[in-house]
Amino acid sequence: HAKDRRLGVRVFDDSLDDGTARRLALVAQLRQALRSRELVVYYQPKVQLSDDVLAGVEALVRWNHPTRGLVLPDEFIGAAEHTGLIAPLTTLVLDEAVAQCRAWLDEGKRIPVAVNVSVRALLDSAFVDEVAGVVRHHGVPGHLLTLELTETSIMDDRASAGEALTRIAELGVHISVDDFGTGYSSLAQLSRLPVHEVKIDKSFVFGMGTEANDEAVVNAVVQLAHHMGKVVVAEGVEDRLSLRKLEEMGCDIAQGYLFSRPLPPEKLATWIRDNLL
Ligand code: C2E
Ligand code: CA
Ligand code: CA
Ligand code: CA
Repeated sequence: HAKDRRLGVRVFDDSLDDGTARRLALVAQLRQALRSRELVVYYQPKVQLSDDVLAGVEALVRWNHPTRGLVLPDEFIGAAEHTGLIAPLTTLVLDEAVAQCRAWLDEGKRIPVAVNVSVRALLDSAFVDEVAGVVRHHGVPGHLLTLELTETSIMDDRASAGEALTRIAELGVHISVDDFGTGYSSLAQLSRLPVHEVKIDKSFVFGMGTEANDEAVVNAVVQLAHHMGKVVVAEGVEDRLSLRKLEEMGCDIAQGYLFSRPLPPEKLATWIRDNLL
């Protein structure tokens, strides 16, 4: 809304197109959702290919919207990043996921959790202390937490991201490079950062059965990342042929709809019982 000075009333500004109005409404609703706990965390299993055990889970946020139902993150993460709401959102997901990891430990299950972190949140000066505080508060060993950062985000601003990553690594918390292969960084750059895991972007994994180039990229990343001592995860594994090829290449961990979609924690427990244990 823009203020019309002559009338002293607020009128709707024609220059705001539908898209802008929708985004403003979305941001207001998201701010409210953060307070009213409408944001919930789902978990998708990551399977260790050598022995088919659960390697861990990735926490993925969903918005349990009162009228629209379950809204996926691609609809609101961008808006959160541009408005500063990403900080409280990250806090919420991080705390929820680490609390869930603690609850599993109390049931005798050791399930590492991975949380997605936007670079906007990582570069916040309070972020590393916050991570330290969350693991301490819940009494969870640092190595049971992985922070997933996109390749483009950690290579973009290498100086400051590098410092934050080093401090995170000092907590024993693992760092995973998400969406690997979509940026333009080299694997050599990767070797200079305290990265534990490389997560091959699903766009390459989808094409493994049909595109020789995609299969070559996946194979190259697996071999070189292994050469540097990194764990390799393939995301977006939807079919058995891709899984078999990944196993042949020696990929360590796979994640995708072939195993399970992201699930609320109670359904994940059922899935683990029925599929792995
Ligand atoms: P991402 O981190 O690359 O997560 C993987 C996405 O691929 C997830 O979508 C997941 O549900 C989906 N996926 C997993 N397996 C398959 C598969 O076999 N086939 C297909 N087609 N898709 C698969 P989702 O949950 O909609 O999340 C989208 C993106 O939103 C994530 O991409 C991540 O960048 C972001 N995101 C999600 N949760 C958070 C969060 O808590 N914080 C931040 N900053 N970003 C988040
Ligand atoms: Ca296997
Ligand atoms: Ca991720
Ligand atoms: Ca990804």
